[in-house]
Amino acid sequence: SEPLIRVESLVKHYGGRRSLMDRLAGRPAISIRALNGVSFTVARGETLGLIGESGCGKSTLGRAVLRLHEPTAGRVTFDGADVTALSPAELKAMRRDMQIIFQDPYASLNPRRTVAEIVGLPLKLHNLAKSGREARDKVAAIMERVGLKAAHLDRYPHQFSGGQRQRIGIARALISNPRFIVCDEPVSALDVSIQAQIIKLLIELKRELGLTYLFVSHDISVIGYLSDRVAVMYLGEIVEMGPVERVLQSPRHPYTQSLLSAVPDVDSPGLRKRVKLTGDLPSPQAPPPGCKFHTRCPLAVERCRTDVPVVRTVGEGHTAACHFAEELVQG
Ligand code: SF4
Ligand code: MG
Repeated sequence: SEPLIRVESLVKHYGGRRSLMDRLAGRPAISIRALNGVSFTVARGETLGLIGESGCGKSTLGRAVLRLHEPTAGRVTFDGADVTALSPAELKAMRRDMQIIFQDPYASLNPRRTVAEIVGLPLKLHNLAKSGREARDKVAAIMERVGLKAAHLDRYPHQFSGGQRQRIGIARALISNPRFIVCDEPVSALDVSIQAQIIKLLIELKRELGLTYLFVSHDISVIGYLSDRVAVMYLGEIVEMGPVERVLQSPRHPYTQSLLSAVPDVDSPGLRKRVKLTGDLPSPQAPPPGCKFHTRCPLAVERCRTDVPVVRTVGEGHTAACHFAEELVQG
């Protein structure tokens, strides 16, 4: 059947700002190429994990899919409807179905609003409650569902712990009964002891409510735990994508292999040591030509500097964008 989400050749360039000297010298504006033609689908009920280093464009991608950031080009389809073509009013209505959970529960909750107001706001925006009473009842119900006390309805965000604040963020995302949620590093700001509780909650909610997730994280163990499929991003492009076991057990792109080499493998020590990541992430203002990973790739050869690798199919539903993807079988 038609996937719930279809993203086609999505591009996001941030407009360059020119300094006075640049203007005087007639130099063009440098734009940041945050997304460079990203395509993928998310099936109904699936979790697509999106992994990459900070600055690779994964948060931008999550926001561009929801049009919280306006894409420069490309198309996003939600349940057959072209999200990128919606008018502002249509987009507002669509937001009921497509929500986001942010990384930082501190920054994303208005400190001057009570939980009843914060979590109840989507009900107001989408006219989902006939009365104030009904809104309060709905907020109380969703609070209990995410593990908060309904009696704490009139408290302010600062009266909750970090983990509780993220539960408030989850309640706010869920109250309009969405079908699709972008989870943007939802546990990265939390203590490790709290992370597992929130991940468990997100998995339970997904099963119970039939949700579909795009789950953004830099943490490969989190991605490995809850994803059905994984997309690996590097400098605004997906360099490898496939079923989670295939990508994590038999990665075919040297970048994915290097991400995994940072995780100790207890079953086969030594195996993951083959690809060591060196150097810094190049600036998205001036991405390298050819394969964008060539400046850090331990396996790079001359042609990698000039030839952009095409995406190859290396297994069922498994693709990788490296000239040598077919040969790079580990283990
Ligand atoms: Fe490395 Fe070349 Fe493959 Fe790019 S195409 S990942 S530089 S081997
Ligand atoms: Mg981010």
